[in-house]
Amino acid sequence: MDLTATLQRIAEQVRPHLAEGKVAGYIPALARVDPSKFGIAVVTVDGEVATAGDALVPFSIQSISKVFTLTLALGELGNDLWKRIGREPSGSSFNSIVQLEREHGIPRNPFINAGAIVVTDVLLEGRPPESVINEILGFLQRLADDPTVSIDDEVARSEAETGHRNFSLAHFLAAFGQLKNPVESALAVYFHQCALSMTCVQLARAGLFLSAGGRDPLTGLEVVLPERARRINALMLTCGHYDASGDVAFRIGLPGKSGVGGGILAIVPRKAAIAVWSPGLNANGNSHAGTIALELLAAEMGWSVF
Ligand code: GLU
Repeated sequence: MDLTATLQRIAEQVRPHLAEGKVAGYIPALARVDPSKFGIAVVTVDGEVATAGDALVPFSIQSISKVFTLTLALGELGNDLWKRIGREPSGSSFNSIVQLEREHGIPRNPFINAGAIVVTDVLLEGRPPESVINEILGFLQRLADDPTVSIDDEVARSEAETGHRNFSLAHFLAAFGQLKNPVESALAVYFHQCALSMTCVQLARAGLFLSAGGRDPLTGLEVVLPERARRINALMLTCGHYDASGDVAFRIGLPGKSGVGGGILAIVPRKAAIAVWSPGLNANGNSHAGTIALELLAAEMGWSVF
């Protein structure tokens, strides 16, 4: 099957849906993004790259970064990480404070904001925020095999200025004794990782190790062991789309992680990584047209983990 032709057809099919989503308004720098953008890229484990639309336009990957910081934190702490963070779908919005209060500062999973803030705290062990931010950026540049991956400082600043909920979550964590580093340091890292700016091609390329048992199939780089890659995929499938994770598993059937910038990274085990971007979000904070595009692509290609 001609993958490029398939992606181009899907880009046409989703066009009428682009106006239906709503761009994230709570981060001023994201509110300005053009809602008519749409990009999609597939990178296969054999190295084929297929694209359609704005696949080479950088966008803010936001919460998709949580997959990569989790990978780094597991490298630091191994399974001890699970003493500080759960592995259950939250069934709540990505920035819920109520659940964190009820569950005594143990975030449900590493992909909700509270969980990702604990992950940054793990990465900060014995290191200043600047060096952790550089480590995360370097990791993404290596995985994407592209030194031009960057952090958009304006987005990071904009998040810091308006991130009252994230400050609340971090202070709650600190109040429960769940942060070892200052709230400001954990959030400095968190805001910068969310502000990573990548294209669909770079993002799909960076996620490819998760499609290939933890080893980058194109460079041979051993990123994580196969067992760990399986588990990161399991978390993406069950927790990667916040309170819509069940619905996305039902509709698409692939591990995935979304971000409020409108991006989604999806993994087709043993075959490919997919990145799609469309800034208009649905009510759960996931890309509206991006979800539809993934649904069409998975159905057409017969891609599913089930
Ligand atoms: N930076 C965003 C926040 O913390 C990330 C949320 C997301 O992408 O889901 O609110």
